[in-house]
Amino acid sequence: AKHFLARAKTHEALGAYLARDDEVTLAQARAADERIAKGDTAPLLGVPIAHKDIFVTRDFPSTAGSKILEGYRSPFDATVVRKLAEAGAVTLGKLNCDEFAMGSSNENSAYYPVKNPWDPSRIPGGSSGGSAVAVAARLAPAATGTDTGGSIRQPASFCGITGIKPTYGRASRYGMIAFASSLDQAGPMARSAEDCALLLSSMCGPDPERDSTSLDTPAEDFTRSLSGSLDGLRIGVPKEFFGTGLADDVRAVIESALQQYEKLGARRVEISLPRTELSIPVYYIIAPAEASSNLSRFDGVKFGHRAKQYADLVDMYKKTRAEGFGDEVKRRIMIGTYVLSHGYYDAYYLQAQKIRRMIADDFQQAFRQCDVIAGPAAPSVAWKLGEHGNDPLADYLADIFTLPGSLAGLPGMSLPCGFGQGGMPVGLQLIGNYFQEGRLLNAAHRFQ
Ligand code: GLN
Repeated sequence: AKHFLARAKTHEALGAYLARDDEVTLAQARAADERIAKGDTAPLLGVPIAHKDIFVTRDFPSTAGSKILEGYRSPFDATVVRKLAEAGAVTLGKLNCDEFAMGSSNENSAYYPVKNPWDPSRIPGGSSGGSAVAVAARLAPAATGTDTGGSIRQPASFCGITGIKPTYGRASRYGMIAFASSLDQAGPMARSAEDCALLLSSMCGPDPERDSTSLDTPAEDFTRSLSGSLDGLRIGVPKEFFGTGLADDVRAVIESALQQYEKLGARRVEISLPRTELSIPVYYIIAPAEASSNLSRFDGVKFGHRAKQYADLVDMYKKTRAEGFGDEVKRRIMIGTYVLSHGYYDAYYLQAQKIRRMIADDFQQAFRQCDVIAGPAAPSVAWKLGEHGNDPLADYLADIFTLPGSLAGLPGMSLPCGFGQGGMPVGLQLIGNYFQEGRLLNAAHRFQ
């Protein structure tokens, strides 16, 4: 813990952390030492990790990367945080992220952007960019992230680390500050599939009293599935993931990773996910719709920021939200409120829900022909800070390969598989059928 705290301090310029408290961390480390001395064999005993600042924590502030929650302290720990602490993990601090996890570059953090350690003039990806950078720059051995539409897989890909988003409902959302509740899912980001398996085993499990969408599936020890052979594994390669939007450098690296899998005994199967392109409009209707509802709780009454001067209650709400939310969050609240409003609901929201179902069905068709699906996690390597300027659509379009799996609720991961333009890392995305996290981790582990 001391080592990583010291490294975090000397690499402050990367912007990965939003909060640390050496005293709290070292007290937790000493408590872990005592558990070790007593013969406790919890799987993560004494392992320092850091949490995306979207998880609420009692011992550190929780901001979700937003000014509206500046200085907010939760009276409780998120279930994922609690479970990792029970497994023995020691918390190094809280990690920077896009405001309320809305973004693909971490430039939407209300505090400061995060820089990619492979090239600090580039973005680390988002929204779990602080988590990816903390792991890539060795400011933490592992971190938690959340993935609503790619926020674990895309920054893992851009920073050359491994991250997995489990099946929707496997990890409890209790205490994860909500963005889009039907999509939000927690997962680990680490240096290898093996480390991810270790963490994920402690993060999952039912939480029926606190998260009604948490699944009744018992936690698994994912480290047991790591070493299986890949002989005969059918890897589905969706043709829609290799169209004109894919950068040539990424295509070349992904192709050689697929060949590597064939050498490991896997068989390549050409498949189709015909509604891949539709996942962008569908996601950018459903996610803002849910966000507009979830974010209504930030009204200056119960949490965080409240405007100083106001005429009456409604004026207080308006000023608090105008001051507290950043541009991207406001944009999504407006889109979300619009698509849910009377007269537009059928045209947008309901249509999006129907197509979401069809996208999930397409995956089930594909899984008749293959065991896992493989392709790029993102269409390019990490772009330059400021490169997308004031064009949110440029960010949205870059989510194309992670959104389909999110809309279907499927587990997905990204593992480093080579380097593209500018020597920047490229991630291979693996998508599995429901509850196939073990198979994904196995495929990733054998590759590494
Ligand atoms: N980039 C996507 C968005 O901005 C996904 C973010 C996420 O997964 N949290 O919504």
